This record gives sequence, C-alpha cells and structure tokens, in this order.
Amino acid sequence: MRKIYEDYLKYASKKLAGGFNARAMLYKEIGRLGLSAFEPGAKVVWTTSYALPMVLYQPFDVVPFDFEYAGVFLAAGGRAAESIACSNRLGYAVDTCSVHRMALGAQELGLFPHADLLVSTTDFCDGKPKCNEIFKEKYQVPFHLIDIPLDKDESALDYVEGQLRNVFIALCELSGKKEDESMLIDPIRNYNQVLGLMDEVNRLRRQKPAPYLPGNRAYTMGMVANILFGRPELITIYEQFVKELRKAPREGGPDGGERFRLLWLLANPAYPTNIFDTFREFGARIVAEEFTFELMHPLSEEEPLRSIAEWMLDSRFIRPVQERIDAILKWVNDYKIDGVVSFTHLACRQGNGALYLIKQTLNEKGIVLMDLEADICDAATFSPNKMRSAVENYMQMMCATS
Ligand code: SF4
Repeated sequence: MRKIYEDYLKYASKKLAGGFNARAMLYKEIGRLGLSAFEPGAKVVWTTSYALPMVLYQPFDVVPFDFEYAGVFLAAGGRAAESIACSNRLGYAVDTCSVHRMALGAQELGLFPHADLLVSTTDFCDGKPKCNEIFKEKYQVPFHLIDIPLDKDESALDYVEGQLRNVFIALCELSGKKEDESMLIDPIRNYNQVLGLMDEVNRLRRQKPAPYLPGNRAYTMGMVANILFGRPELITIYEQFVKELRKAPREGGPDGGERFRLLWLLANPAYPTNIFDTFREFGARIVAEEFTFELMHPLSEEEPLRSIAEWMLDSRFIRPVQERIDAILKWVNDYKIDGVVSFTHLACRQGNGALYLIKQTLNEKGIVLMDLEADICDAATFSPNKMRSAVENYMQMMCATS
C-alpha cells in the first residue's frame, strides 16, 4: 500500500514539473494522506468516505483511511491478484464484492496501516459493517456502526445525529480535543466551497458540445476527491480542474468531436480497460455521472452534525427507487443525454437492484440503457474482446437510430 502512495507522489511530481494539473495535484494529496497513516504514532480511523462525509474527521489529529478505496487503489496499481487470492485462501465467499475481498486480503497480508478506530454505516451494503466486525476482532479497537434508517424525517435525523455525536466524541477522545461542534465549521466551509466548484464543473459539462475529458476523468476526480472533503487543499485542486475544463476542446478533440452524450451510472473499473477508448472511437462523451451527484449535498455551518446526518440520509441508494429514477430522468433532460451506461459490478446488489426499473423507464423515453457488466477490482474476470463487442453493438445501435 505504501508503494502505491509513493507512486502517486512520484507520478504527481513528474506531472507537476510540467505545470499545474488537477489530477496530479489530487493524487499528490492522496499520496501524502495515505503515507501519513503509516507514520509512527499516527492515529488512524478506518472509514468509508462516500457513505460518511470526511469533513467529520478534518478537525482532528487523525488520519482517515478508507479501507474500500485502499483496496481499489491496490487494484488500480495492479496488486489485486494477491489480495483476492489471500481472501479466497481465508475462505471468504468468492461472490462477495471484490472491493471487500481486496480489503480483507490486503489487511491479512499486512498491506494496510493499523487501525485505532473503526467507523462504518449500514447503508449501501452489508459488506461494509461485516468487514468492520472482522477488523474489530483483529485490531481490538472500538467500532462505531451508524445505523441508517430508510425514512428521512425528523426522528431519523435525530437518530443519525445522535450516532454521529458518539463518533464525534470518540474522535475528541482519540485526539485529546474538547468536545465542541463548532470545530466542524471550517471543514464544512471548505466542503461547501468545493461544492460550488463542482457545480461549475457540471455547468460546463452541460454545454453542448461538452468539454472533452479523457476516459472517465470527471468520475475519478469526484470520487477520489471525496476522500479530501473538508480540506482546504481540495479547493485549489478543483479551481484548477475548472480551469482545465474551460480550456478543454469542445469542438473536435481526440474523439473527433462529440456525437453522443452519455450519463454514467454506478461504478468505474479500477484497472485499465478498453471501455473508454471504444466509446471515444464513436465520439461518445461521458458528460455526467450519478456518483458525482451522490456526493453533492451542502452542509450547514449552523448545524454541523445534523447536516452531516442529512447528507447521509439523502443517499439515493437508500431512498425509494422512484427518487433515483426521477433524478436520472432529470439528469437525462438537463444534460441532453443520448445514452445511459451502467457499469454494473455484479456483486453490488444495492446498486444493481433497480436497474430493470431504470431501464424500463428510460426505454419509455427512447433512451437505451447499456448494462455494462464487469468487476470493479478483479481484472482477471474482464474480457476486452467481449467488452469491445458489447460497447460497439451499443454504439452502432445508437448510430443507427440517431
Ligand atoms: S461496490 Fe457495492 S457492494 Fe461493493 S463496496 Fe461498493 S456499495 Fe458495497
């Protein structure tokens, strides 16, 4: 794991020698943060950033460590095979999400930093809390599981806020700080400022044609950036990203110009694939991603913990499916979408459960959903030939009907 973070710093310093670059700036901060978890005396809190906004950890002298992202980073660095093999050897079910198999294997192999505190949530998937139960046994440290109800009303907010307060108190104890919620104001202000910049990114991408971005760049920016939510460094990174988007080609470009506009649902493969090159050959630009919107809920400086609770309860992956469908239809309309692609990671039942309903609704609007099935972490299960045929078929159908 250290090597992965060191490589991020090397990549960043090489890239940044040539000038400002938002992606390199982002990976530099991720590398720094990741390595700090291995420093002697570091107090490390294992958590999940896309389910619980990282602003919660920023006022404290602790290193938040997202054990799921760490597994994804290992897979992106070509280190999936050994962790998955280790998870298999330990006897964990092979149809469990590979993100968790990566984390379980990597932890067993000693690739992860130690844990001082574990914080997880019950939403998104049950693999998260189950992994944390295992880690709790291994590290013998406190584990806070935030139970997320399906309803979003005042009592649900009270309930989640109360649990967040317990985590907040545990963080105060771990870092020797006096309990004072106002210490969350600065991180919240930083996060809200980044939200404004993310809004600007979205506005630029709503233009037709949209600025050309390589691969699934905006997805990576948003998802990886969320590990830094609340940190002032992220403001500079997103300001740079906005500048790059303003300069990016809209007419022409490496894809020969925008022919189709895609909305991306769910996840993204961690390892290199031919998916994005194939879309590029057809002039298909990804102009919006469901997960970027998932991370964008303003927080309140007046009621920090309550607004964090609201952020969590607002997730479209726990709200009634109709809310997710309505949101998708709104993005289709706002971004003038021609096609919707779901990167369907088969083990992710909570992500995939609604796909048939989404597909039916989109069909009624004349939009075809491409269900692109592949694993997030396990490149050994990926067939470039099959994927190329699937993407080509989809694009040829779009060309024929456009
Ligand atoms: S991909 Fe789905 S199952 Fe896997 S960790 Fe994420 S939410 Fe959970």
